[in-house]
Amino acid sequence: MASPAESYDVLIIGAGLSGLAAGIRLAHYEKRVAILERHTTIGGLNSFYQLRGRRHDVGLHAVTNFRPPTLKPLGPLAKLLRQLRISWDEFDLAPQCGSRVTMPGASLRFTNDFAGLQGDVAEQFPGQIDGFNRLDAASMDADTFDESPGFQPSRERVREFITDPLLEDLLFAPVLFYGSPTPHDCDWRQFAILWRALYREGFGRPFDGVKPILKTLVRRYKALGGDLWLRHGVKAIRSSNGTILGVTLDDGTEIDAPHVLSSAGLPQTADLAGDAAELPRDPGPLSFVESISVLDRPAAELGYDDTVTFYSTRDPRAGDRFRYANSEEPCDLTSGIACSPDNYQYDAPHEEGCLRLTVLANPQYWAGLEPDAYQAEKARWHAAALDAGRDFGVLPDLTGAQASHVLDTDVFTPNTITRFTGHPNGAVYGSATKLRDGRTGLEGLHVIGTDQGYLGIVGAMLSGVSIANRLLT
Ligand SMILES: Cc1cc2nc3c(=O)[nH]c(=O)nc-3n(C[C@H](O)[C@H](O)[C@H](O)COP(=O)(O)OP(=O)(O)OC[C@H]3O[C@@H](n4cnc5c(N)ncnc54)[C@H](O)[C@@H]3O)c2cc1C
Repeated sequence: MASPAESYDVLIIGAGLSGLAAGIRLAHYEKRVAILERHTTIGGLNSFYQLRGRRHDVGLHAVTNFRPPTLKPLGPLAKLLRQLRISWDEFDLAPQCGSRVTMPGASLRFTNDFAGLQGDVAEQFPGQIDGFNRLDAASMDADTFDESPGFQPSRERVREFITDPLLEDLLFAPVLFYGSPTPHDCDWRQFAILWRALYREGFGRPFDGVKPILKTLVRRYKALGGDLWLRHGVKAIRSSNGTILGVTLDDGTEIDAPHVLSSAGLPQTADLAGDAAELPRDPGPLSFVESISVLDRPAAELGYDDTVTFYSTRDPRAGDRFRYANSEEPCDLTSGIACSPDNYQYDAPHEEGCLRLTVLANPQYWAGLEPDAYQAEKARWHAAALDAGRDFGVLPDLTGAQASHVLDTDVFTPNTITRFTGHPNGAVYGSATKLRDGRTGLEGLHVIGTDQGYLGIVGAMLSGVSIANRLLT
């Protein structure tokens, strides 16, 4: 059986989006690169799997930053694809139909045209529109590449422009849900990145989900001569006198390399490097339960026509603020993200429909369940989350007579995320402490991906490319 070489120029831990993108960039410049992945497949948090004859995406709701290369100046996705020498068409992205954020008292729609959101704010919050436009300008001007350490709170910044708590929470909900590792708030640089990614540039999705994206990345990487080793977990990162020597695999094999890029997360990278690295070991608190309902027809035919709906049933104007934190209950049913992969502007509809629902969870609760109770609780909370969304008016009724439209369901929890990525607590957005410059204090060891602070599909790829570029200069 083939096995990795004894030495490489660069080793990459993890075949998620950051690892694959870094690998392509390095292989393109003729570095000898190997990606080492413990799991049996590629994609990490954004992979796909087969269940009862159907393929499901692990995490794809939307590819953010949808700004086609025909629009100038180029958006980050178009620039990223240029760096990876991948054409825009290879990702096969269709634009969203339209998304929404809704709370008692207001509902704002946003599409890939920012003017729509501006119009909704002007109409529903006429006293806030000037502040909204100034917040937009501040978000567009923010230096998102500022690598200085430390947390820069966004709530304070946003309150300089927005004084209505309802509008503040409406604007924060999608931003926090799609990329904050910090309860109730997020770093200002992250806010600005997500403002642009969600509201300014919008969403797209391939008809076939994340698979064509991952396959395109792997094809490109391998064509450039990169090695990809699945089922090759890294047990330790070896160093001597503060300089990286290479890694030891789970089976004890040693591979030498002067550079190691780790997408395993900060606490895991710290553990792998042992006493040699003084890295924060905060695992990150926030995780989710996500359920998938496969439908016998497109979701729109059952009354759900948003691409993504971010919602909270709490009423900020009555002092009951949108709560973005670990749930005290097994799942927090007061808010959620609903999404249908059907509701993109494809050339033809999917044969079967799909509705995904994501709610904040309590990772400790889920981790403590025995196997039988775990299965029963998954079913119970899946039903309870659907009912809560229906009662708030954002989801179709999938109970009673309508239940016959549901062909299959699957539910994953913080345990699933931990099992497939190694992230403790199932922390989707990783550690609350980010290493924005990727430097670990060990010569040759760099953190990429989630814990460098660049989140989401596009963010993870940007992170991989930016650290690879540093190695190339
Ligand atoms: C439910 C859900 C929905 C999401 N929806 C979206 C969305 O709609 N849009 C979006 O843009 N983003 C979304 N995201 C976020 C996005 O998926 C992630 O931000 C991104 O994929 C992170 O990529 P990464 O490369 O940083 O890390 P990861 O994907 O975590 O990859 C790290 C890899 O390293 C491997 N690894 C860890 N330790 C070792 C080791 N010791 N040895 C070898 N390999 C190791 C893991 O197995 C994993 O494959 C979602 C995430 C989830 C969980």
